[in-house]
Amino acid sequence: MANRAYNFNPGPAALPLEVLERAQQKFVEFENSGMSLMEMSHRGAIYEKVHFETEALLRELMSIPEGYKVLFVQGGASTQFAMVPMNLLPPGKTASFVATGSWATKAIQEAKLFGETAIAASSEADAYKRIPAIGELEYPSDAAYLHITSNETIEGTQWAEYPDTGIVPLVADLSSDILCRPIDVSKFALIYAGAQKNLGPSGVTIVIVREDLIAKPSITVATMLRYDTHAKNDSLYNTPPSFAIYMVGEVLKWVKENGGAAGMEARNREKAELLYAAIDGSNGFYNGFADKGSRSIMNVTFTLGNKDLEGAFVKESETLGFSGLKGHRSVGGLRASIYNAVPLESVQALVAFMADFQRRNG
Ligand SMILES: *Cc1c(COP(=O)(O)O)cnc(C)c1O
Repeated sequence: MANRAYNFNPGPAALPLEVLERAQQKFVEFENSGMSLMEMSHRGAIYEKVHFETEALLRELMSIPEGYKVLFVQGGASTQFAMVPMNLLPPGKTASFVATGSWATKAIQEAKLFGETAIAASSEADAYKRIPAIGELEYPSDAAYLHITSNETIEGTQWAEYPDTGIVPLVADLSSDILCRPIDVSKFALIYAGAQKNLGPSGVTIVIVREDLIAKPSITVATMLRYDTHAKNDSLYNTPPSFAIYMVGEVLKWVKENGGAAGMEARNREKAELLYAAIDGSNGFYNGFADKGSRSIMNVTFTLGNKDLEGAFVKESETLGFSGLKGHRSVGGLRASIYNAVPLESVQALVAFMADFQRRNG
């Protein structure tokens, strides 16, 4: 395949080439049906097989225990910012949040529309360069839930380990690091993730939720925004984003072929270590944004301390086939998103470009 970019896009993001090629083979006609998957009923046997196989593979790869539902919904993680409080935050209760950065802030702002919120810990005073230590978290023992953002995509920070919240349900946004490493799902009450960073194309959002939490919400909630609607109907209450779910299934097969969650972690750590070593070894030419203990293995954020030089870095990188290295407009600087599907070769090429750029501009 000619002309594959070194794709460091933050989302939608790189997909494994093998997955794209396999999907291409089946794009026009799916399983001798005389039509593409996109043209057939979501109630038919062919689509249903795709749907349930995708769910089963996610359960297998994430070791999702009994007692959890896996839902495929639409509206992105941004809709989950509302759906979580609509379904899990009754009047008179408080939802606590760990304010770790841009995405946590959006989740908090949205939850405020629906009920009482509190901040369990915040790193705002440190420009969100770090994830608060687990010992810093303070939340009431009768909180409706504690919400964390597992990986702050924009700042480039990630929880190294998750808190044990006991009876307080732990809710987590894993949009930018789902399946980047093995996790213990039983620690969580609810996990949500838009697919377009680590799992597939945009258009489908994964929700993994403990069954005892999805009883009928206590306040009036639109049918489509209730977890019980999707849970009772195996995510087939209405027309699901069938092609996006199929693509997630293909990505999951690729994850399995490449060692599952543990295989992904090994790949991701190798890429991240290479890139952070290039930053740390540059004698201050490149500076990592996140504190070392909070560094993300998915989004590597760094600066050059000079906007003109950063602009030149991005411009030159693009002429050489790199894509997506400009930092988010809210933080500035540079960012390399190295999700599961980004190959080691892309990171090796980036590190070589960084060294060359420094030689010419340092
Ligand atoms: C991208 C992202 C979101 C927003 O996802 P949408 O699917 O665009 O709504 C939310 N949280 C995190 C951590 C993200 O990386």
